[in-house]
Amino acid sequence: MVDGQRPPEVDRVAASRKAVAARRARASLKRDVSTRVVSPQELLRRAYADPASPAGTMRVTEFLTSIPAIGEGKRDRILRQLDISPVKRVGGLGARQRRDLGRWLDDRLPEPAPRAGRSRLIVLAGPTAVGKGTVAAHIQEHHPEIHLSVSATTRPPRPSEVDGEHYYFVDDAEFDRLIASGALLEHATVHNKYRYGTPRAPIEKALAEGQTVLLEIDLQGARQVLEAEPSATLVFLLPPSWDELVQRLVGRGTEDDEERARRLRTARTELAAQNEFDYRVVNDDVASASREVVELVQAPARPTS
Ligand code: 5GP
Repeated sequence: MVDGQRPPEVDRVAASRKAVAARRARASLKRDVSTRVVSPQELLRRAYADPASPAGTMRVTEFLTSIPAIGEGKRDRILRQLDISPVKRVGGLGARQRRDLGRWLDDRLPEPAPRAGRSRLIVLAGPTAVGKGTVAAHIQEHHPEIHLSVSATTRPPRPSEVDGEHYYFVDDAEFDRLIASGALLEHATVHNKYRYGTPRAPIEKALAEGQTVLLEIDLQGARQVLEAEPSATLVFLLPPSWDELVQRLVGRGTEDDEERARRLRTARTELAAQNEFDYRVVNDDVASASREVVELVQAPARPTS
């Protein structure tokens, strides 16, 4: 090659750095689909909106195998059935292929549609370290008209926590009494350690007075509330990516390695349950995630009775 036709060394280094960054971004996105942080349909929306993005430049083969329950054999059958070449990138799919792939996914892995007739009882759940507590605290600070439920727990208070404000701190015997008297709307042992429960009376009172009520609880509790109050509105808080969730858990430094690994395993299971929820909100930024939750809350609601 004539020297003048070769890109300067610095350009080649920059280009190879860019290629490495793009590969990393695609790998991270694939992890997000496999851990269900991002739905396959959401990846398609991103790819079609910007074919040069990590979603758009991902090979359709890689996209399909990142979806839980699709292995290589199934992937190849899908590609043949939809008449898509394995070398295609998602952003480069034609109009017919986009339509057929979209239909295929919607048939097998439908995205949940919000259920009609939601009530003013809002349940905010989501995986460990996603920032549920921070979002709930932000909402309470900026929207005092929303009643944030105060749970009972057998966990000892942290130094900054106030009894009756952050939690009602009770011992095991008292917690047993609360359960036995039917005073709790739901209760669960969280992270295999302490018990947590939602006192029923303050919620019923706030709802009767026309207030919106927000519960920040774990997945087991969310399921129990749905059982007891089928009209409850379930909101699932998602991390922006799986890597970010791991970072947040490591960053807060409150768990040792073993406990972190255990919580991440639980997080995977919890993420798999997100389709049981009416709405999903990505906690990229606390203020905007809180705003999104409040907007759901302020949407016209059916009175509870
Ligand atoms: P923490 O001990 O860090 O305050 O809370 C631990 C976990 O317990 C969080 O995931 C939180 O959502 C959950 N939690 C807090 N209150 C309740 C409750 O009343 N019921 C249930 N099921 N979970 C709760």
